[in-house]
Amino acid sequence: MRDFSLDIYRELLETLQKHGYTLMPYADYCHGKRPEKFVILRHDVDAKPWNSLKTAQIEHSIGAKATYYFRVVKESNEPEVIRAIAKLEHEIGYHYEDMSLCDGDVDKSWRHFQTWLEYFRRHYAVETVCMHGAPTSKWDGKDLWKKYDYQTLDVIGEPYMDTDFSDVFYLTDTGRCWDGYKVSVRDKIPQYQDEWSRAGLVWHTTKELIQAIEEDRLPNHVMITTHPQRWTNNIREWYTEYVLQNCKNFIKRFLI
Ligand SMILES: [Zn+2]
Repeated sequence: MRDFSLDIYRELLETLQKHGYTLMPYADYCHGKRPEKFVILRHDVDAKPWNSLKTAQIEHSIGAKATYYFRVVKESNEPEVIRAIAKLEHEIGYHYEDMSLCDGDVDKSWRHFQTWLEYFRRHYAVETVCMHGAPTSKWDGKDLWKKYDYQTLDVIGEPYMDTDFSDVFYLTDTGRCWDGYKVSVRDKIPQYQDEWSRAGLVWHTTKELIQAIEEDRLPNHVMITTHPQRWTNNIREWYTEYVLQNCKNFIKRFLI
């Protein structure tokens, strides 16, 4: 089975469920839901929104719930997809990058954030937001929270700000592998990564990750972030993503 195909994605989720993990959206975590074993399923819809509908359908078919974070830019912001995913009972959130789009102007970014939060709330009662960690931007989106507070807008959580990573292990497919934190600029949890690496919680392929779940080596509390644009059963799309990501990883090594 090819890695980063929808088939192996389904197998990953089914393996998690078989081993007792509740697959839940980030808002549930923020509301204090703590099953004995859980995976917060987070999706950053950076591009190709229609691919997200495919993963959303797979999750729905096995009774899993996830969070989909959408950007405001046209390569992500597709109202038809947002509504369809919300209909499948997943959570919708705002994947914000206001600091980049407003060239680092904090006050302008705050107004921009409010405008777009309102926009997404027309489609879904958004409760959580998540930074888009654009590696090529010189602005860190989280800097907005040095001056402003999203809780004043009834936003109850932001994964990088409100997750207790001393309790929740973090995995991301950034770099199109599961150990891409080495080449990631912002999508990583630096304060705990060394500890996790020492504990042997490092896997490169989805097959290796599935094997670890089978052998009960995955911690009980996990957040998994995926970018659904990478996950496809379409061979041509799959190779394009494969080649592009290899180039990106090569470039990112120089950025960090
Ligand atoms: Zn993103």
